[in-house]
Amino acid sequence: MKRVYNFSPGPSTLPLPVLERAAREMGDAYGTGQSVMEMSHRSKDFTPIIENTEQLLRELMGIPPRYKVLFLQGGASLQFAMIPLNIAAAEAGGARKKAAYIETGIWAKKAAEEAAKYVDVAVRASSADKRYACIPPAPAPDADDAYYHITLNNTIVGTKWGALPETGRVPLAADASSCILSEPLDVSRFGIIYAGAQKNLGPAGATVVIIREDLIGRAPSWTPAMLRYDIHAEEGSLYNTPPCYGIYMIGLVLEWLKDSGGVTAIARMNREKAGLFYGYLDSSRLFRPLAEKPFRSLMNIPFAPREEDPARRGALEERFLKEAAAQGLVNLAGHRLVGGLRASFYNAMPKAGVEALIRFMDTFKAF
Ligand SMILES: *Cc1c(COP(=O)(O)O)cnc(C)c1O
Repeated sequence: MKRVYNFSPGPSTLPLPVLERAAREMGDAYGTGQSVMEMSHRSKDFTPIIENTEQLLRELMGIPPRYKVLFLQGGASLQFAMIPLNIAAAEAGGARKKAAYIETGIWAKKAAEEAAKYVDVAVRASSADKRYACIPPAPAPDADDAYYHITLNNTIVGTKWGALPETGRVPLAADASSCILSEPLDVSRFGIIYAGAQKNLGPAGATVVIIREDLIGRAPSWTPAMLRYDIHAEEGSLYNTPPCYGIYMIGLVLEWLKDSGGVTAIARMNREKAGLFYGYLDSSRLFRPLAEKPFRSLMNIPFAPREEDPARRGALEERFLKEAAAQGLVNLAGHRLVGGLRASFYNAMPKAGVEALIRFMDTFKAF
């Protein structure tokens, strides 16, 4: 089998033992004589699968009992709408409520723009004028903010929050798509945490929502059933057909993570991997990291040639991507909106992949 080191920001690399196990279980999962793809979502065969995935997530993240775990569809992008709809939208003709957003990147901005359809969005701080290279100081919420939204890890620009903002009684809502399970997180600090699966959890198609129970059941009556947390919570994520295979795959990834020592152990690995790469970039004469030091992401590391001339820089990047791919180091292009280069080191990226990338960069010749 030919495997590359895949530095894609998402969908992204999965642990090989997980893929091999899924392959073994493809036609006959757990002695049922069926693939998980073929099972009724209401059958006694599938029930233990979804229960196991939820249980592992609760255990690995330390999710308190007063939080519900939902497996939904629509990606993180649908949560940009579901959060304001369910937590703060008004009944028809009612007064609009207000929610606070911190704009730390392109996804954070999208979340705020989508929410503005349902609530009055107050962008309390933004690092847009710094090309999102830092996390701005986070002001306290207003007492009447319905919630306070942050993007924990900014996938495109490569920054992450350090200390969380103090929001008092205002629920903290967080997009954790690109950092869930990469480091320990105190779930009790949040009202709601959400993540598309395709970065650190499994294949695209399933979305995980962790929500405090008191935030469920506030949606206005005009909310479509499929977009209501209360319906999904009451039905145990089985209101309609859930992304069954994705939920199974998340379970396998979580079992792999548990066998690898859990979140504390993987966080140590993640700091080691990112530390190696930042250390290399900081001392490189050819490349430079783009995010400011105190805010650097462990998961996504955008970088660029130090070359000032845009045309020459573009040519260098193009040759870099081509030569890297020829050595089995793929998906290193920066996001189409920001350009440059980017390496994503999610949980499943082994340290050997980071070392191979550094070895390649060390031999890469500018001209
Ligand atoms: C990838 C990503 C998204 C978009 O996720 P979808 O599942 O494609 O909707 C949103 N937020 C962050 C932080 C991301 O990394």
